[in-house]
Amino acid sequence: MDRDKLYIDGEWVEPAGTSTIEVISPLTEEVIATVPEASPADVDRAVQAARRAFDSGPWPRMAPGERADVMEKISQLIQGRHEDVARTITEEMGSPISFSVMGQVFASTMVLDYYTALAREYEFEEFRQGALGPVIVRKEPVGVAGAIVPWNVPLFTIMLKLGPALASGSTVVLKPAPETPLDAFLLAEVLEEVGLPAGVVNIVPAGREVGEHLVTHRDVDKIGFTGSTAAGKKIAALCGAQLKRCTLELGGKSAAIVLDDADLSTAIPGLLPNAIMNNGQACIAQTRILASRKRYDEVVDALATAMAATKVGEPLDPETGIGPLVAERQRERVLGYIEKGREEGARVVVGGGRPAGFDKGWFVEPTVFADVDNKMTIAQEEIFGPVLAVIPYDSQEDAVRIANESDYGLAGSVWTSDVGAGLEIAKQVRTGTYGVNGSSMNFAAPFGGFKQSGVGRELGPEGLEAYLEPKGINMPFGWEPIVGA
Ligand code: NAD
Repeated sequence: MDRDKLYIDGEWVEPAGTSTIEVISPLTEEVIATVPEASPADVDRAVQAARRAFDSGPWPRMAPGERADVMEKISQLIQGRHEDVARTITEEMGSPISFSVMGQVFASTMVLDYYTALAREYEFEEFRQGALGPVIVRKEPVGVAGAIVPWNVPLFTIMLKLGPALASGSTVVLKPAPETPLDAFLLAEVLEEVGLPAGVVNIVPAGREVGEHLVTHRDVDKIGFTGSTAAGKKIAALCGAQLKRCTLELGGKSAAIVLDDADLSTAIPGLLPNAIMNNGQACIAQTRILASRKRYDEVVDALATAMAATKVGEPLDPETGIGPLVAERQRERVLGYIEKGREEGARVVVGGGRPAGFDKGWFVEPTVFADVDNKMTIAQEEIFGPVLAVIPYDSQEDAVRIANESDYGLAGSVWTSDVGAGLEIAKQVRTGTYGVNGSSMNFAAPFGGFKQSGVGRELGPEGLEAYLEPKGINMPFGWEPIVGA
């Protein structure tokens, strides 16, 4: 899986420097690949290529339907290689293969397919009759977009940016996370095979400093960032200094509310994947489980049983529910939070450490804490591991208050046999997405955060509009568009 070239300007080019990134298996702790680390000079070259492709290349000048045809081919090729891509993502970051196939690869192509369909039907230009005369309103591509993504859902977070950027006619410089560059190389192969015009997408794997070079580059018009809230604040400040457009998808600490009338035999298996998908390394992970005092013990028991039954193991085994965490530092961070939970008085019901029998690999046991107060660190901070905090509430109003008592506002769900009551709760929780008896995500709806979970939205038409600049062109009185033109 080693690589020695970078994909820039539609070609595989020698990197400017000699730095490399070692990709380490979370399972074996061994180096599985070495790839070039892009330097600022490579970013400059990538941005110039993207700039040229935008300013004078065919991509922004093609009809949206023509761009959609190319996007459709990209999706088909990725789908055709789904086993290879899913396996690569599992090998680089440890997500269970069952999740990699659906949550990493097919979810990504579904996002691309959504934007392919939207490109074909979206009104990029409309005519309005205003009090001051006729006006054409155009939605023009934002320009050169810098896409910066994390390691947890690498291809999916790429597609959340690439889909709308390509649909809009923008061009892209993509910076994958240093932990997960390999899937981006596979994507580059697909883009090359499809014959995407030179410079439309350029890929520069690197770390934070080179990322900042991309963010502050004068020829980059917009940054699409997914990652931690801490990095998001830094990037927002850098973009602010240049008044650069940016979309920020950041961290979360979402709550699943189990109402008294919920049928636990369906609610627990329903909410569990939202809580521990991808080994708990998901921004939308609903790791605070809110249960009424009346049924608290019952909910704790049901969760503990389900978590204890989740198979921890080799991520390429299709039966595995929890694989290793991405890196040793991530395992240490999660174990540190577990320790903090104990110190602050929460009670470990299952798990609470490293699983027996795994000498190698950055595993953490599926862990359930009971007797959690929402003010505790484990209820307020994003742990990014398979650790759940079950928090008691006194009434539905109390449940909503606790759900909202968070710096974050990304996702959430409510579990009830009364869908109408669930909808009323959904309206009161201050998060960007929400689910009633189900997942909070829908590709046709805007996805993003209230509060410190981000700024702006991806997905839905709103996600396309984040890569568009609206422009009004005032026309002389009496002017009318030619129908069919
Ligand atoms: P991170 O913020 O450390 O890094 C994310 C990406 O940003 C990486 O590519 C990194 O190299 C780059 N980066 C970091 N600092 C930068 C800077 N100052 N300038 C430019 N680039 C910079 O996050 P991570 O540890 O890779 O990912 C985990 C975090 O991502 C979690 O907090 C998680 O909640 C969040 N996340 C959010 C979403 C969402 O859609 N809201 C989705 C997935 C992950």
